[in-house]
Amino acid sequence: MTAHQKSAHLRKLKNQLIRLQDHGIDEIPCNSQLDLSSASARPSQSIPIRSGQTGIAQALDHIRAEMGDCDRCKLCEGRKNIVFGSGNPNAQLVFVGEGPGAEEDEQGLPFVGRAGKKLTEIIEKGMGLNRAQDTYICNIVKCRPPGNRDPESDEVSACIPFLEKQLQAIHPKVIVTLGKPATETLLGRKVAITKERGQWQEYKGIKLMPTFHPAYLLRAYTLENRKAVHEDMKKALAELKR
Ligand code: SF4
Repeated sequence: MTAHQKSAHLRKLKNQLIRLQDHGIDEIPCNSQLDLSSASARPSQSIPIRSGQTGIAQALDHIRAEMGDCDRCKLCEGRKNIVFGSGNPNAQLVFVGEGPGAEEDEQGLPFVGRAGKKLTEIIEKGMGLNRAQDTYICNIVKCRPPGNRDPESDEVSACIPFLEKQLQAIHPKVIVTLGKPATETLLGRKVAITKERGQWQEYKGIKLMPTFHPAYLLRAYTLENRKAVHEDMKKALAELKR
């Protein structure tokens, strides 16, 4: 096995372990003859789900399995990893962004770069929640758009059925859309995010709160923008506690 193949196997194994942790599995029996190639290739739904988990985690695994090594749009050409989503499948709060960036593509996980750290700060310091336990995080497209551009309409059309199924399976109490592309995609119309952020909307019977994308906050780190996101999250939190 070449160094490149070993590194690819290790990355897949790491992602699989993170997904197990998302499903509440903190430890797995490990024999000394661990075969990395077979471990990384094993489909996630073959891994036992700890008793007490609902069928939501399994439903998400089925959606991920249906996606496979997806080539339904041109974003497959430049990606390293499909970034399906992470967090607690039983969460009442789902954050939806627009698409993975470079770090997310590398790790196969959403919101793990600079914008992800800002989102974690908003969730944990701002809202007093635990990101892994209290939220589920995903994007409208699961592969990285080149140069971090907005996803194009054909790419969104190809990928959106997976997000719709994720949201249908999780059926959270509140969806927070991060930025204009995610908000427009779920509402199915044009949105002026600076005007409409902070105003409750609805997506298939689920309350939806549009707010700024954390990457925008990093670019325009003004007191006004920080206060706006803080106010939006206060509304989301109040709804979660109702
Ligand atoms: S963005 Fe979505 S539809 Fe396009 S290749 Fe990736 S997973 Fe498939």
